[in-house]
Amino acid sequence: MAERWTSQWKELFAEVVTSGLCTGCAGCVVACPHDVLGYDDAKGVYRPLHLEPEFGPGDCGHGQRGCTSCTRACPRFRSWEPEIDTHLFGRTRAPGEMAGVSKDIILARATNAEVHRKGQDGGLVSAILLWALEHGYIDAALVSYLEGDGTSWKAVPGVARTRDEVLAAAGSRYTYSANTMAYGAAVAAGAEKLALVGMSCQSSVPPVMALRKAGKPARRLALNIGLLCSKTFDDAIFEDLFEARYGLRRRDIVKMNVKGVMQIWTRDGGYHEVPLKECHAWTREGCKLCPDFAAEHADISTGGIGAFNDWTLTIIRTDIGREIIVKMLQDGSIEGRPGDDDPGAIELLRKLSIVSRRRWPARASSGPEIGVPPPKPKKAKKPKPAAAT
Ligand SMILES: Cc1cc2nc3c(=O)[nH]c(=O)nc-3n(C[C@H](O)[C@H](O)[C@H](O)COP(=O)(O)OP(=O)(O)OC[C@H]3O[C@@H](n4cnc5c(N)ncnc54)[C@H](O)[C@@H]3O)c2cc1C
Ligand code: SF4
Ligand code: SF4
Repeated sequence: MAERWTSQWKELFAEVVTSGLCTGCAGCVVACPHDVLGYDDAKGVYRPLHLEPEFGPGDCGHGQRGCTSCTRACPRFRSWEPEIDTHLFGRTRAPGEMAGVSKDIILARATNAEVHRKGQDGGLVSAILLWALEHGYIDAALVSYLEGDGTSWKAVPGVARTRDEVLAAAGSRYTYSANTMAYGAAVAAGAEKLALVGMSCQSSVPPVMALRKAGKPARRLALNIGLLCSKTFDDAIFEDLFEARYGLRRRDIVKMNVKGVMQIWTRDGGYHEVPLKECHAWTREGCKLCPDFAAEHADISTGGIGAFNDWTLTIIRTDIGREIIVKMLQDGSIEGRPGDDDPGAIELLRKLSIVSRRRWPARASSGPEIGVPPPKPKKAKKPKPAAAT
């Protein structure tokens, strides 16, 4: 018989929120049926917090009385990886499957010129959302926008229900946006079938909620689109690095991308490159122990690595993911080519997945580290010849 699930906020706070494992995905916040979890997204924090003063930050009165929704919804709590794998794919990841279990890997892009142009890579994610809205698979999507007129470059979660809204959200921002947090607004506006677009950490939320029975959100999250991700940056990177060292002000930036370097396009038509080595000091705290590069629990995972800049590397993982991609290829909404056209991208996917998996700490539950090869020993530097005296 399955063991009774008794873990509540007290355990989540100790084992995930304050242990470094918390990604800020906000699964727990969205699942809380008593609305006693808040979310701090100020000053680069991106963490859940307990709002009832009675029991302090690390315990919950509802939890003491038997509520367990937050731990059920957390994709970093205990044996999350093997449990979600088994739920989604009927088996755990084989040790060699560094980028997670998948059915197929292709390159895909939107055939509509506007969608393609507004997308970060091939515009595939936006094309899927538009198609899924049009064909009744979803009635809203949880996405990320830029706050206000966009000049602050503050990424914020939001709901997209129309073509204009989907296209306004297209493109990538490299700071964090817990798109799960838009769930309440979508439901309040009457949506019942939602797509979640989210970083790898967020794309484990819908299946963990479903398998651990975390309540209504799991039933409403009908489509799960993941974005490949090795890290997001603190919002302070704009002032502390881009402006201080390169004179690039937030309000002058119009587009950013990461292709081996941080690429920045400015309003005056300028193009600038910032070495990633310089950016690493602004890695967001919640990313430092994250083992999932490949959005391994999404229906469809998408990325921009590889030789073809205007195509989206597309990992098809589940039946619903395959159904949608096949139908879109058939009706010409997207075009595709085999992933083998770009073997370098497939190899890089594996390598970057390994790099992320190596972050998972040995003290945490087993799973993400399985099959990860040990790092190659660094070549010893030749000693400098002694200076002649
Ligand atoms: C922070 C970040 C890091 C990434 N790192 C990598 C990487 O290392 N390697 C790689 O191959 N690919 C990475 N990607 C994915 C890549 O940038 C594209 O998002 C992906 O290839 C899909 O492109 P598209 O043209 O199909 O999507 P589009 O049609 O442009 O749609 C992109 C969707 O992403 C959403 N979005 C944008 N920014 C954010 C955000 N910060 N948080 C949550 N949702 C957001 C938008 O709302 C939109 O719905 C990253 C993306 C982000 C946001
Ligand atoms: S990882 Fe996500 S669900 Fe888990 S505690 Fe952090 S914000 Fe909540
Ligand atoms: S590295 Fe990406 S997927 Fe992992 S916690 Fe950070 S934002 Fe989430």
